[in-house]
Amino acid sequence: MNHSLKSWNTFGIDQSANEIVCAENEQQLLNAWQTANAKQQPVLILGEGSNVLFLNAFHGTVIINRIKGIEVTEQPDAWHLHVGAGENWHQLVQHTLQLGMPGLENLALIPGCVGSSPIQNIGAYGVELQRVCDYVDCIELATGTPHRLSAKECRFGYRDSIFKHEYQDRFAIVAVGLRLSKQWQPVLTYGDLTRLDPATVTPQQVFDSVCHMRMTKLPDPKVNGNAGSFFKNPVVTVDVAQALLSEFPHAPHYPQADGSVKLAAGWLIDQCQLKGIGIGGAAVHRQQALVLINADNATSEDVVQLAHLVREKVGEKFNVWLEPEVRFIGQVGEVNAVEIIA
Ligand code: NAP
Repeated sequence: MNHSLKSWNTFGIDQSANEIVCAENEQQLLNAWQTANAKQQPVLILGEGSNVLFLNAFHGTVIINRIKGIEVTEQPDAWHLHVGAGENWHQLVQHTLQLGMPGLENLALIPGCVGSSPIQNIGAYGVELQRVCDYVDCIELATGTPHRLSAKECRFGYRDSIFKHEYQDRFAIVAVGLRLSKQWQPVLTYGDLTRLDPATVTPQQVFDSVCHMRMTKLPDPKVNGNAGSFFKNPVVTVDVAQALLSEFPHAPHYPQADGSVKLAAGWLIDQCQLKGIGIGGAAVHRQQALVLINADNATSEDVVQLAHLVREKVGEKFNVWLEPEVRFIGQVGEVNAVEIIA
């Protein structure tokens, strides 16, 4: 049987899967996994499909994680939230602000589910999930055994965590624990936020400003399918950064705590005059070069070819080789995205 994945990935790519199952609780999720496993079918667990590119028909079962629920426990110094993996991230951000619990406002409007947020340690406007993450609850799929990983055990990095490595296939995330400190500290280091006054700013103002920035620069997936930033910002050595800066002194660059330097992938792409360029139905977004969009019934191949072109042009001009942030899914599971677009 072929079931369309078009409405299950925000890119709107029309590929199919053998089975698509929505799981509303842990037992349903385990049952779906075990049924597929008994048939020796591969399984892919998805939240809202906002960070994937399907390359082919998926020859297995896609399980949509829809485990819901938000529990709040108030302590003298912080609010502790236990949130079901299938809750929508942005709705959670709004919900916490409405209840007077700030801390997530910089992460407004990030597409996807709560359960996906630790996988790539979602981040925006100077805040990453790891700042507020207390723990992540998973179940081992083969046995149903629950595991609680502390934030430290999640080994969060730049758009990275243990869930992209050892915990990638054998475990499903079922809930995320967040700790929102009552000592609210606004983070106003990025973009328009730098214009806000730290002495008087409110969480709602930060939220509104982030929403405004995102809505003006980022494409609405309901209008043009996309998966957010298509490429990671390259993190390079000081030597590589200095070589680049000697030729391009205006290149945005952000020194990191570990001595490396982060470059802005969007700027590198823009300098190659690639905004708006298209292949087939895929295009580089005009307002934000880091985002590839499904402009007109794009196929997976259109997106791959466009990503290849962008990587080549940026590599030729700057000798910096971009890597996808979006995860590529082949017939039986995730494949190496760099190899596909190289
Ligand atoms: P931007 O403000 O045009 O800046 C370009 C890049 O420079 C950003 O990606 C950001 O890196 C970095 N940057 C900017 N100001 C910085 C600062 N004060 N300190 C350190 N690094 C700085 O970025 P944008 O594209 O509009 O995105 C704004 C924020 O939303 C960024 O944090 C971005 O990561 C996030 N975002 C993420 C996605 C996604 O799909 N993952 C999509 C859209 C936006 P970082 O990306 O490392 O923060």
